[in-house]
Amino acid sequence: MSEKIAADLVLRGTCELVTMSRREECGSLTRGALAAKEGVIVWVGHEADLEGAVRVDDDGVVVDADGACVMPGFVDAHTHMVFAGDRADEYAARLGGVAYSEILAGGGGINATVRATREAPLEELERLTRARLDSFLAHGTTTVECKSGYGQSLAAERKQLAAARVDHPVRRVHTLLAAHLTPPEFAGRPDDYIAYVCDEMLPALQGEAEFVDVFCDEGAFNVAQTRRVFDVAKTLGFRLKVHAEELAHTGGARLAAEYGCVSADHLIRVDGDDLAALRAAGVVAVLLPGTSYTLHTDYAPARAFLDAGVTVALATDFNPGTCYCENLQAIVSVACQEDRLTPDEALYAATMGGAAALGLQDEVGSLEAGKACDFIVLAARSRHELPYHWGVNLVEGAIVGGRHAGPADGSAAEHTVADGTGPAGRS
Ligand SMILES: [Zn+2]
Repeated sequence: MSEKIAADLVLRGTCELVTMSRREECGSLTRGALAAKEGVIVWVGHEADLEGAVRVDDDGVVVDADGACVMPGFVDAHTHMVFAGDRADEYAARLGGVAYSEILAGGGGINATVRATREAPLEELERLTRARLDSFLAHGTTTVECKSGYGQSLAAERKQLAAARVDHPVRRVHTLLAAHLTPPEFAGRPDDYIAYVCDEMLPALQGEAEFVDVFCDEGAFNVAQTRRVFDVAKTLGFRLKVHAEELAHTGGARLAAEYGCVSADHLIRVDGDDLAALRAAGVVAVLLPGTSYTLHTDYAPARAFLDAGVTVALATDFNPGTCYCENLQAIVSVACQEDRLTPDEALYAATMGGAAALGLQDEVGSLEAGKACDFIVLAARSRHELPYHWGVNLVEGAIVGGRHAGPADGSAAEHTVADGTGPAGRS
């Protein structure tokens, strides 16, 4: 008889354990169980085999899912969550028929967010970010990407990146999006702003973000300007992302393939050659259907990406202008309804797809030995309930890194998962 595997946490009592170990049926195990040690999964299998394989430490934690479906925490690979200001009135005005160009001309829109974010002290941005992270976690997201891009000066971009590092259990990946839009003080001189980004900001912020992203689209930056940022970013050791082909087909997808970007995001206006190039270069397509929903625009051709063999991720694009939604469950539902993904395709894209879009496919996104013990307990008996039972929060609790990630008590001595009644339960 071989020696048992030591564990300080075991999960049992599931009716379904969705491992995402493969895309087919999301690796679903009926009455699956898992064991973890020091935050890393050491065993996954059927509960009937748990006792024979695993020895739980005396002070170990047993999480009883009480008949629920358990799946990996969501990995949200595209958010703009660090900002100040409030644009609810703008949303109402736009639905009332006011054009975005008119709102911009009146000092609103993204410029209002830039102004408020620049003015906010670091402590205020940290407070806002912590509250948003609570809500992401309450809705099942255990890893999230945070972009800068509302500072648009060295000091303000640095402040945004610093606020994104506020103490919180949700795992974070940081992206420098200095080339988001041309700020007011560079109005009419986008090339001068790009020079400032390349010469001053990127070198100074090396080490404060893992990724550099550029908004390459009509009305933002063109391919030549994006190339300049990518050349410098690559030399400095940043990994690359790009906002591409959302508003018009300008060549961002092909550029992503050429530069080996980890992901290209939005991708609504793509053609067949773009898909082939992304597939050949292994670029992950991050689709953001919540933005299409909010803006009443076309959806990215998700089916075409899957048919072409491109890895697809689903993310929220959480931001104050075009998708104020931190709930990836809702995005999964929209992707199924509007983009005709199957529930399994959408759930895989919101976990393993997101992990791949952040270069973390060996660390998070699935429940397999060697990966982080990040899982969520659903108020559901099947994974298919998640897109089907929509508009509500089906997440009952979360474990991040083998620890109860509830707001009230982060101690490993907890024997139940977060119950959603603390501050994290707010939505
Ligand atoms: Zn974005």
